[in-house]
Amino acid sequence: MSLPPAAPIRASEALRKKLAKIGLHSEADLLTHLPLRYEDETRITPVAQACSGEPVQVEVVVHHNEVQFQPRKQMLVHASDGSGEIILRFFSFYPSQQALLAAGARLRAFGEVRHGFFGAEMVHPRFRKLLGDEPLPTEMTPVYPSTAGLANSALQKLIARAMADADLAETLPEALRKELRLPGLARSLRFLHTPPPGTELAALHSRNHPAWRRVKFDEVLAQQLSLRRAYLARREQGAPVLVARDDLGARLLDALPFGLTGAQLRAIAEIAGDLAQPYPMQRLLQGDVGAGKTIVAALAACQAISAGWQAAFMAPTEILAEQHYLKLQDWLAPMGIRVAWLSGSLKSKAKREQLAATAAEAQLVVGTHALIQDGVDFARLGLAIVDEQHRFGVAQRLALRKKGSNPHQLMMSATPIPRTLAMSYYADLDVTVLDELPPGRTPIKTRLVADSRRDDVVAFVKKLVAEGRQAYWVCPLIEESEALQLQTAESTYEQLQEDLPGLRVGLVHGRLKAAEKQAVMVAFAAGEIDVLVATTVIEVGVDVPNASLMVIEHAERFGLSQLHQLRGRVGRGQYESSCVLIYAGPLGQVARQRLKIIFENTDGFEIARQDLHLRGPGEFVGSRQSGVPLLRYADLELDADLIDMAREVAETLLTTQPELAEKHLQRWLGSREELLKS
Ligand code: ADP
Ligand code: MG
Repeated sequence: MSLPPAAPIRASEALRKKLAKIGLHSEADLLTHLPLRYEDETRITPVAQACSGEPVQVEVVVHHNEVQFQPRKQMLVHASDGSGEIILRFFSFYPSQQALLAAGARLRAFGEVRHGFFGAEMVHPRFRKLLGDEPLPTEMTPVYPSTAGLANSALQKLIARAMADADLAETLPEALRKELRLPGLARSLRFLHTPPPGTELAALHSRNHPAWRRVKFDEVLAQQLSLRRAYLARREQGAPVLVARDDLGARLLDALPFGLTGAQLRAIAEIAGDLAQPYPMQRLLQGDVGAGKTIVAALAACQAISAGWQAAFMAPTEILAEQHYLKLQDWLAPMGIRVAWLSGSLKSKAKREQLAATAAEAQLVVGTHALIQDGVDFARLGLAIVDEQHRFGVAQRLALRKKGSNPHQLMMSATPIPRTLAMSYYADLDVTVLDELPPGRTPIKTRLVADSRRDDVVAFVKKLVAEGRQAYWVCPLIEESEALQLQTAESTYEQLQEDLPGLRVGLVHGRLKAAEKQAVMVAFAAGEIDVLVATTVIEVGVDVPNASLMVIEHAERFGLSQLHQLRGRVGRGQYESSCVLIYAGPLGQVARQRLKIIFENTDGFEIARQDLHLRGPGEFVGSRQSGVPLLRYADLELDADLIDMAREVAETLLTTQPELAEKHLQRWLGSREELLKS
C-alpha cells in the first residue's frame, strides 16, 4: 500500500525539524527533492590516471600521517595505491580521525585530484575506511540540497524509502504525455534520484535530460494549475455589474484635447466588457511609460460611477497620487463628478472630514496607502484601481479589495513584465497591453558619460535652459542609507546652484512634507524651476512636457527598469529630449553590460527581458514570491516553451480531469500551495 502524499515524513522529531528548514514536510516532498549533482562512486580510478580537477574515487593504503602547524594547522595523510602516491590534506579534523587514518588503513576517498608541487593531492576528500572486502556501490551517489547538520546520506536514505513506498501514478493522461513527448513520471524520478552507472553526467548536470524536462514540466504545470484554480475561484464570488447609465464616458472623451490610440481604445473596450460581468475583473493594464494608462483608468472609473458605484484610485507615492488627483479632478469635476483626495499626511481634523466624505459621497477617491487604512470606509466601492501595482505588496492590494464587496480590480504597471514571467506569476490575471505610444512623442537620445566629464553635462544643461527647456537631475541611489541619500541630494543641490549661476534650481526628495513636495512639483510644472534635483521620488508617473533632459548620476547603481522609468519622464512634449547617464568608472563587467542594454534599447519590454536574463525574476515579482521558491527546477527563460505547454494543459486538466489536477497539485505543491495564495 502506498502512502498518501501528505503523510508526514517518517523520521525523528529532531530530524523532521531539520528537514522542515529546507521545505521538506511530507513524504511527497521527498520525492521531488532532486539532486543538485551526482558523484560516481561506482568506479575506482588509479591515482596515476586521475586527471586534475576531475572528481574521482581512489582506493589507497595509508603510509603515515603528520600534523603540520605552518603555514596553518593541517593533517597530511600520505598514501598510495600501487599506481602512484597521493596526499590527502585536511584543514580541520578530529584527533580520532588522525587515529583512524593511521599507517596501514585502507581507504576509499572521493574528491578532486590536484597535481601540486608535492605530487597528486586531494583537499578534504570524503573518505571511508574499509574494514573488509566491501563491494562498490552499483549506483551513482546523488548529492541533495541540504542544510547544516543534515547529512547527505540521511537524505539519501529517507528519499530512497519514500520512493519505494510512494504512489508514483501518472497525473498526465497517457495520450497527452505522448503528444508532449515527455517520459513517464515514475521513470523520470527514479532516473534522477538514482541514475544507472555509466550515465553521462554532463547531460544530467546541465539539466537537459528528458527526465529533467519531465520534472520541470510537472513543476510548471502545478504552478499553472494553482493560479488557474485561484482565478476560477474568484470568478465564483460575484461582483457588482457595472453598466453605464448615462453618457459620462462619452462626455469625457469629447472633452479631451486628444484622440485615443488604437491600443487605448482596445483596452477600454476590454475593460468595459469585464466591468459589465457579474464576477470581479482582475486585469493588469501593462504599458510602457507614457503609453497613456491614466485616461484608460479614468474611463473605467466613469463606467463605475455612471453605474452608481464608487471608484478608488491608489498610487504608490504622494507625488504621483497628487498628480493623478489633479488630473482626474481636471477631467471629471467639470462634469459634476465628486473627486476626493486622501493622503497619509492630511492633518487629523481635515483627515477625519475627508474620511467621512469618502464614505458618504465621493464618487472617485484618489490617494496613497491612506486609502486602505482603518477608518476609511467606502459606501459602494465597485472598482479599485491600483497604479504601479508592482510597488504594492499583495497584502495592500488585497486590503483595497476588501474595502468593497468584491469590487472589480484594475492594476496598472509601467514596469514591463516579460511574457514568460507574466505567464508564470500572473497567470491568474488577465493582461491587456498598451503596445502603442500616443503620436507625437519624440524619441529620447541616451548618452553615457563618465563622471570625469560632468562639466560637459553642466554646460549642456545651461544651453538647454537658455533655449527655454527644463531638466531633471537625479541623485545617486544609496540603498543602504536614507540619511546618506538625503545628504547626497542636498550637496548635489548646492553644487548645482554654484555651477549654474542665474538658473533656478529646485530640490525634491522623500523626506519633504507632502505639501512641500507638492509645492516644488507645481513650481517645476509651471516652469518656475529650471533644474529639478531629485531623488528617485520622481521615478513614477510625473508628467512635465517642457522637461527635455534627464540627468542620472551614478547610473550604474540603478536597476534597469528604474532607469527606463526615469528616462520616460522626458520626451513627453514636442521637444527633442535626451537622457544622460553619468557613471563612475571603472565599471565592472555586469555594470557595463547593463548600461549597454539601457543605451541600446528603448523598448521597455526588451529591457525587462534582458534584465530578467541578467538578474533573475526577483526584481519583478516583488513581495509575492519572497521566500517561496515556486519554481525550483524550471527556468523562466530557458524553459519558456514548457510554460506555454503547461498553461494549455492546466486548463484542459482542470475541466476534464479535476481529480488528476488535484493529485498533481498535492504532489508538487502540497503545503506550499497555501503560501502561493498569500
Ligand atoms: P502612463 O501610461 O505612463 O501612466 P500617462 O497616462 O501619464 O502615461 O500619459 C502620459 C501623457 O500622455 C499624459 O499627459 C496624457 O494626458 C497623455 N496622453 C494619453 N493618451 C494620449 C493620446 N492618445 N494622445 C495624446 N496624449 C495622450
Ligand atoms: Mg502612469
